[in-house]
Amino acid sequence: MTVVDAAGLTAWVHEFTRLVHEQRDALTQLDAAIGDADHGANLDRGTAAAVAALEAQAPEEPAAVLKTVATTLIKTVGGASGPLYGTFFLRAAGALDGDDGAAFATAVRAGYEGVVARGKAERGDKTMLDALGPACDALDEALGAGKPLDEALRLAADAAAQGRDATVPMVARKGRASYLGERSAGHQDPGATSATLLVEAAATALAGRG
Ligand code: ADP
Ligand code: MG
Repeated sequence: MTVVDAAGLTAWVHEFTRLVHEQRDALTQLDAAIGDADHGANLDRGTAAAVAALEAQAPEEPAAVLKTVATTLIKTVGGASGPLYGTFFLRAAGALDGDDGAAFATAVRAGYEGVVARGKAERGDKTMLDALGPACDALDEALGAGKPLDEALRLAADAAAQGRDATVPMVARKGRASYLGERSAGHQDPGATSATLLVEAAATALAGRG
């Protein structure tokens, strides 16, 4: 079975949507501590709209799946994270070339780099990049070492979770949390938490593929 086909990517988006819905209140509570308490609601609304758009359009091309998700998130998710997640999916769509695990890793890294370019943040700034970056590195490293995709995605999800946990002591340097300065330390970043769900969703939805 190919990994990067429309069905696999659609399953990824469905699983991300399910996890976001399940964790909506937890995400909102994290954002209440260092932001404006809308991250869970924002993403829940956006991912549900993305699933609805996929069901309505049923795109046949894998890149079209990611593009539909991107445009829907940009339209429906407010705040900083909507355009950033939208950029992630848009850049991933543009970089898709091939249908194996390596192609998926390349697309995900392009998405990550798109978020870097758009948000002008770096790792260590207490953002979603602190989960996405380590996940990309772990995925590339595992695939480069010849590990099967299932295992590589599991390692990527673990790396994302570690990166998410590492945001707790950080002082935010980007986004709304940065307004708090030193007082942002001691709280887990909401975007790094949702980005970990995105990687977790890939590990679950793409398991058994490739
Ligand atoms: P807002 O802060 O506008 O209310 P959300 O609450 O939906 O938006 O999302 C907040 C999350 O967005 C933060 O936890 C952080 O991870 C992420 N974020 C904010 N600014 C940036 C940025 N410049 N680059 C990457 N991620 C960012
Ligand atoms: Mg917010």
